[in-house]
Amino acid sequence: MRPNLRALLIRALGFLALAAIAAATASAQQNAPAPFILHQVGPGVWAAIDNPAAKSGRAGANAGFVIGTDSVLVIDTFENPAAAQVLLDQIRQKTKLPIRFVVNTHYHLDHVAGNNIFAAAGATILAQQNVRAWERTENKKFFGPKITTAQTQMVESLGLPSITYQDGVTLYLGSREVIVRSFPGHTGGDSVLFIPDANIVFTGDLFWCHMLPNLIDASTKPWVETLDLMIQHHPAATFVPGHGEVGHVQDVSDFRGYLSDLRADVGQSQSAGKSGDTLIDSVLPEIQQKYGTWDAFAYFAKPDIHYTDLELRGEKRIPQPPKN
Ligand SMILES: [Zn+2]
Repeated sequence: MRPNLRALLIRALGFLALAAIAAATASAQQNAPAPFILHQVGPGVWAAIDNPAAKSGRAGANAGFVIGTDSVLVIDTFENPAAAQVLLDQIRQKTKLPIRFVVNTHYHLDHVAGNNIFAAAGATILAQQNVRAWERTENKKFFGPKITTAQTQMVESLGLPSITYQDGVTLYLGSREVIVRSFPGHTGGDSVLFIPDANIVFTGDLFWCHMLPNLIDASTKPWVETLDLMIQHHPAATFVPGHGEVGHVQDVSDFRGYLSDLRADVGQSQSAGKSGDTLIDSVLPEIQQKYGTWDAFAYFAKPDIHYTDLELRGEKRIPQPPKN
């Protein structure tokens, strides 16, 4: 039988077209901005800094990893599983050691959404005990009252830590030590990781580098005390924040200044009898004068003033630890 040349030609053209589409897709993926930018901050210690240029594909928060002598530890897993998969792939390019631990610095969605990716790769997820209690419940509030079924299902299927602690834990990646300690301020279930042999601190969202923070769950009084301890104990450390670029003690001190100025300005405005929108309008220019150039100012300045107003009045709702 003669081969049907026309059919063969169509099949060949179809194959070429598919190959062209595949190549174009791969090249688009290669040209798309990465969800995060990796920075080596010490020997075997990497910060993965959220890349705003990636727009909707961005990581949504910072993460990082530490390569020890027999295993790897990951700090946080971003806002979406796709970014977490890129992080996993990049770790795999640097080392074949097993990824033994993931530590979630707190329960917020932008730090835990890729947990399942790392759990599937064999990692054990650890966090302060309130992270496990709040991860699948409190995260729903970020979608507002119009949360969809798909969003609810997404939150309820987030990977939970399988090991929890109250005050902290010390982990060993072979001979490499990572000290994890819980501190109050940002949610009531936050952890800070310290790598002594490299003098690097991963702060989670207890430190935002020249960026206004999200105070939705915050208690700013103990938060300022937490920052004082960080500054006192690690004067020469490199600090990897939860959001913003890698910083040093002066940047942590600047951030402490923001929280304490906010508390002082809101307190003064309350003493002058102001409340609600009037209070926000009176505090905003004072905060803007000093912090108007920080990232996320337009996004967080008013909510920060509002939440601090509630906190100082003793009316703020914050997540409660589960009763045992
Ligand atoms: Zn965050």
